[in-house]
Amino acid sequence: MNSVTVIGCGIVGLTSAIKLQEKGVQVTIVSKARFDKTVSSKVGAIWFPFEVHPKEKANNWAALAYAEYLADVKEGNGVAFIPFITAYTEASNTDWTLLLPKGSVRKALVSEIPKGIKTAFISTVPLAEPLLYLPYLFNRFIARGGIFKEQTITSLEEASALNSLIINCTGLGAKELCKDTDLHPMRGQIVRCKKMDIPSCADSTKKGALSYIINRSEDCVIGGTDYENDWNTNIEKSDTDLIIKRILDGGLSKKTPEIIEEIVGLRPKRSAVRFEFDKDFPNVFHNYGHGGAGFTVGWGCAIELAEIIRTQLR
Ligand SMILES: Cc1cc2nc3c(=O)[nH]c(=O)nc-3n(C[C@H](O)[C@H](O)[C@H](O)COP(=O)(O)OP(=O)(O)OC[C@H]3O[C@@H](n4cnc5c(N)ncnc54)[C@H](O)[C@@H]3O)c2cc1C
Repeated sequence: MNSVTVIGCGIVGLTSAIKLQEKGVQVTIVSKARFDKTVSSKVGAIWFPFEVHPKEKANNWAALAYAEYLADVKEGNGVAFIPFITAYTEASNTDWTLLLPKGSVRKALVSEIPKGIKTAFISTVPLAEPLLYLPYLFNRFIARGGIFKEQTITSLEEASALNSLIINCTGLGAKELCKDTDLHPMRGQIVRCKKMDIPSCADSTKKGALSYIINRSEDCVIGGTDYENDWNTNIEKSDTDLIIKRILDGGLSKKTPEIIEEIVGLRPKRSAVRFEFDKDFPNVFHNYGHGGAGFTVGWGCAIELAEIIRTQLR
């Protein structure tokens, strides 16, 4: 049986590994940390192509992922399709609305739009709660004969020697591993709160004032920040105050949210997702830099990747 090594155990590594297994490949995941210690484990996570490039490829991957989630709604695995209000302006990229199945998106009526937002779409989109979905994916990977090894890879030479084919899904870790000057963090601070009786919605139309609410099965995630090139992983009280203030001032909620936990994560942002074989180490395929949309496009990348690798193995 052909074998491939995937480096990284976040949403991108796990989806890549599973799609390769579905092509009959024996897969080993090598990772500095298990799925529960990754950036992926900390987030929302709602289907929305936010801060991911290039637009056309991201749209295609997002559409493939949407279909994958449709087929993956299972009791207890964290996947659900929920109504989501998304603000837009004339300057917004609204191409994502064209990707959704007929009947699952429409313009919102003024009466349906939270205060502070002028125009919005209401769509039905996948939510994949990481605390349930990542263990589900990991168990699916292991059940199919996958092997997991905890190990830090320090150079591309070392990565290249792991196997005859390697998939690099190290997220922001690729900055050091690949000496990638394009890859940088976009810092996101979020607040996990007790469940609230308000609709899930997002307003990403104002750079530096990202505001969203995601209602999940047991809690509610309120965001956020979108600070470019900010490596700060400390929780900043000033950011929490700002996040809550925006929700209250914008009229998204009348009640002050009851905070359970504050969380910081660094989105692996790039001018374009790196999705290619390495020029110097041609047995290494890079799949990193998914910005604010790893859950939105991860499955799509994995489907395309598995096809490329299948051709390569032939
Ligand atoms: C606050 C916040 C909210 C977000 N909300 C959403 C959302 O609602 N929807 C959405 O689609 N996306 C969202 N995102 C973006 C999404 O979380 C990321 O795009 C995604 O987690 C990236 O996944 P990844 O697998 O590439 O990286 P990671 O989850 O960081 O995984 C990288 C893996 O590589 C391993 N690794 C790194 N370096 C090495 C090394 N040198 N050797 C070995 N292993 C290594 C790590 O241990 C880890 O296992 C959000 C991000 C943040 C921060």
